[in-house]
Amino acid sequence: MTGPDLTSFIAGLSKAELHVHHVGSASPRIVADLVARHPSPTVPADPEGLREFFTFTDFAHFIDVYLAVVDLVRTQEDVRLLTYEVAKDLATQQVRYAELTMTPYTSVLRGIPIEAYTEAIEDARRAAERDHGIVLRWIYDIPGEAGLESADATIRYAERHAPDALVGFGLGGPEIGVPRPQFAPHFSRARAAGLHSVPHSGESTGPDTVWDAIRDLGAERIGHGIAAATDPALVAYLAEHRIPLEISPTSNLATRVVERIEEHPVRALRDAGVIVTINSDDPPMFNTTLSAEYATAARLLDLDEAGLAELATTAVDVSFAPEDVKIRLRGEIADYLARFRTTPGR
Ligand SMILES: [Zn+2]
Repeated sequence: MTGPDLTSFIAGLSKAELHVHHVGSASPRIVADLVARHPSPTVPADPEGLREFFTFTDFAHFIDVYLAVVDLVRTQEDVRLLTYEVAKDLATQQVRYAELTMTPYTSVLRGIPIEAYTEAIEDARRAAERDHGIVLRWIYDIPGEAGLESADATIRYAERHAPDALVGFGLGGPEIGVPRPQFAPHFSRARAAGLHSVPHSGESTGPDTVWDAIRDLGAERIGHGIAAATDPALVAYLAEHRIPLEISPTSNLATRVVERIEEHPVRALRDAGVIVTINSDDPPMFNTTLSAEYATAARLLDLDEAGLAELATTAVDVSFAPEDVKIRLRGEIADYLARFRTTPGR
């Protein structure tokens, strides 16, 4: 793994997180707060039990944990708490900008009206920016496993109840058995509404799914997309058209789409000219953080401090952040690297 100096460099580096799920970011600390509100037969309330509950065993266990947390978010105040606290956890890692993938459909299904949901996330966003200096934007995603009904509802929320900070439209959940092309009309409406297209694809299936995401959903960035590495024509297309991949190495390992971290295709993709960004996906549930993912990326991509700064800058560049935020963050990263280089004694 990386030496301690790289770890501390990463900790202080301003970062942008482009692929992280709202509910999937609930840490044991946040879940403890939610369990205190809604005692649960399956989720322990004490910190020790919760740590154990969160210890990743396999993908089925991850789904159990994820759904247990989904079940604990029952009121508008729960949505607000979760959003604010997730932002706070990100800010602690010097994440200065994040595009949070939100699944409003599951919250509405649990009885929270979309108006209340929208108000809660916007309220939390403003409070987090004020208190912790982190800028948040939203990506509304279709939970693929819930089918067309969930897609119809999600695009409706995006069109009729769009929060101020909504910038993107996504598609998550399993890929197997959930063909991308069926959601073409929803993505077409989302793009007409000015939203960026950022579906997951090529995570657990092959490169054809990535082609589908590009051709049928107008993908501007690809969630995961690592299966592209097996298709040279696709790799060339992604590079030529500058379609970035949102890569989450630990997530890929945890869900076993990559058997060993050394086999991760991120380096081959980067070397072929594909724009890669590093992200954390569902960090507490995969026992990781964005900083830990940067450390893994440094190892896989053989990056030093300047390389890490470049990685962070790339994420800012391909984000959907307002231009003034991009300029500010690029400046922060450049200043930080310059300060690091002039520090005596290293
Ligand atoms: Zn994801």
